[in-house]
Amino acid sequence: MPSDTILQASINTQTINTLITQELSDEIILAAQDADEDIQKIKSSLQEGKHRNKEKYFINDNSGLLMHISFHQNYLKEYICHKTIVIPHSLKKTALQQSHLPHMGINKTYFILKERFFWDGMYSDTVNYVTSCISCCQYKRKPHQKQAYGQTPIPTKLGDFISIDIVGPVRPNNYVPTALDHFSKHAELFPISNIQAPTIARKIIQYITTFGRLGMILSDLGKQFTANIFKQITSMTGIALHHTTRKNPKANGQSERINTSLKTTILSLTDHKVDFDFAVAVHKSYYNGTKHSSHGFIPDIVHFGRNLSLIFDTITAPIKTPLLTEEGYTNTLLLPFKHCNNK
Ligand SMILES: [Zn+2]
Repeated sequence: MPSDTILQASINTQTINTLITQELSDEIILAAQDADEDIQKIKSSLQEGKHRNKEKYFINDNSGLLMHISFHQNYLKEYICHKTIVIPHSLKKTALQQSHLPHMGINKTYFILKERFFWDGMYSDTVNYVTSCISCCQYKRKPHQKQAYGQTPIPTKLGDFISIDIVGPVRPNNYVPTALDHFSKHAELFPISNIQAPTIARKIIQYITTFGRLGMILSDLGKQFTANIFKQITSMTGIALHHTTRKNPKANGQSERINTSLKTTILSLTDHKVDFDFAVAVHKSYYNGTKHSSHGFIPDIVHFGRNLSLIFDTITAPIKTPLLTEEGYTNTLLLPFKHCNNK
């Protein structure tokens, strides 16, 4: 059977429930590697010291897994060694399904895969898989571009300003207020069943108590509606918040992109009987865990200083948590931002 047929996206309710509970653990992958003839040949030749691509593969001493080595350049043009698990043919489809769980596009799906796994032809399989996905074809729409006004300052630290918006109703009584930090691009999403001002206000207070006080809130929401929300926040906490309705094209575009991809995730997953709250959680996890196109970093790393695991990652996932000392944080994260902003 040709590989593009095998790897076409097809998913049913039973599969999706399995995907959500199944981890691609070292044990599962090792068993599949052991059953794969091609991988066994590579392992044997490595053990005998005869493999012609010794610099490309190695066997992990602890897990026994066949690993792949590649090098890529970071923003300082330094070569970084990247070690990923070789996925046997029998698990390629599972890896693709897991990586495409929230129905994000080719780039984000491939990013998730290449951070963790390797197989020959992984990119073309990803393209085939995503472009043949029925849910993506059904629900993906081009973001509607709203009118843009004025300029907003470039944030220099977390919490300088966030933009809030409300997605929905996606299904009847399914709304998601979104809060995007414009420095880290980290998005916080709140599944709710009504959009009355006290409900939204509670979610913004929850955001502030979790992530700290904000410099400014940028809003695309109606002026009257926003005023009611802010009145609620002030009466609940005594904190007076400043907000602006001025927008810039960049800020607005970012918010619109989240809205479109979030709707696709919710519609696709709830079609397969996934709980609405959980669908929102899946989207948040994948959105914040993949490289953001505007600054080129993973929002979770900028926001929290570390990668948070995705649904199918095991505790021993092969992703290295960056060791972020204060100096490391400055050099690893803030320096490239300066570099980006000076462009
Ligand atoms: Zn899809």
